[in-house]
Amino acid sequence: MPLTNRRWLLTSRPEGRLTRANFTWDESPVPDLQDGQVLVRTLQLSLDPTNRGWTNATATYLPPIPLGDVMRGIGLGIVEASRHPGFREGQLVQGMTGWQAYHVSDGRGLSAFDAVPGLPMDAYLGLLGHIGATAYFGLLDVGQPKAGETLVVTGAAGAVGSLVGQIGKIVGCRVVGVAGGAEKCRWITEDLGFDAAIDYKREPVAPRLRVLCKPGIDVAFENVGGDILDAVLANINLRARVVLCGLIAQYNEAVPPPGPRFLGNLLVKRARMEGFIITDYAARFPEAMAKLAEWAMAGRLKYRVDVVEGLEHAPEALNKLFDGTNTGKLIVSV
Ligand code: NDP
Repeated sequence: MPLTNRRWLLTSRPEGRLTRANFTWDESPVPDLQDGQVLVRTLQLSLDPTNRGWTNATATYLPPIPLGDVMRGIGLGIVEASRHPGFREGQLVQGMTGWQAYHVSDGRGLSAFDAVPGLPMDAYLGLLGHIGATAYFGLLDVGQPKAGETLVVTGAAGAVGSLVGQIGKIVGCRVVGVAGGAEKCRWITEDLGFDAAIDYKREPVAPRLRVLCKPGIDVAFENVGGDILDAVLANINLRARVVLCGLIAQYNEAVPPPGPRFLGNLLVKRARMEGFIITDYAARFPEAMAKLAEWAMAGRLKYRVDVVEGLEHAPEALNKLFDGTNTGKLIVSV
């Protein structure tokens, strides 16, 4: 019996938030494997804010997804069959599986991994995947935090942000998080050990940062942009480092909003703002994974996952990232 694939094809470009109408659900036979190919059954799909940018007609750090192609996405799966020397049946793999139940690949962009004893399967697309690596290298390599410095994390209760704040505590920083809502602020302070939280939906961020970050912010890990980035830049210290990880506040905008209002502070404070894309660190992932697993098993890093059941719900589920209803790393159980 040939296997049937279930997949989401991107068939129109979203304006504003993407909707189910931008996709076509397709069910078709999985093609026979050729020499050099591997068949992966997708178990989990990672939903990431960057997925929205990939659907635009203009390139981000990756080319646009051509209309009619399977929606691009990072997934975790198991090798069902292999005619590729680098993969064997039963192996766990991660990579660009796309929004589909089966992925036939020549192996490019896929990597096999062994489960770490003691850590659950839900760790691999978050803590021990691109999310953990983003927090680790973004903070430690780009941000260069030192013990005793003040670190501000925006998007602080999210998948990346919650890890950044905890790593900041491990290296000895005072950590202030900016997040939306009382429950998220409670979680990062009471359960994760952040020193303080600002609920940007209830309180003005710039004056609160001024009070909580005396004499100023040494390292800022920016996930949001817009008014929140303005508030951060207004409060930086001499020689501050602003790590530009993401700008989620503008991913649904067709025209980028006017730029930051306090760039003058980068000048007078002799500060640095630097963007990074985690794929540039691929060769160093094992270094991060070893450290992150060690910290998690020692109880020093906690994480939450938000699992949506069923590939058919992927388009609506992605919008949870933009309305803040995801509670932890957003994953689709395929
Ligand atoms: P999260 O789990 O943090 O989910 C996104 C969160 O962003 C939401 O829960 C919401 O939290 C917040 N948010 C959404 N819209 C707004 C808004 N308009 N203003 C303020 N907050 C908003 O997602 P990730 O951890 O996966 O990603 C976090 C950031 O990291 C994103 O910007 C992403 O693009 C970036 N990233 C960058 C990478 C890189 O290589 N540079 C790699 C991976 C991620 P709340 O309820 O608090 O508002």
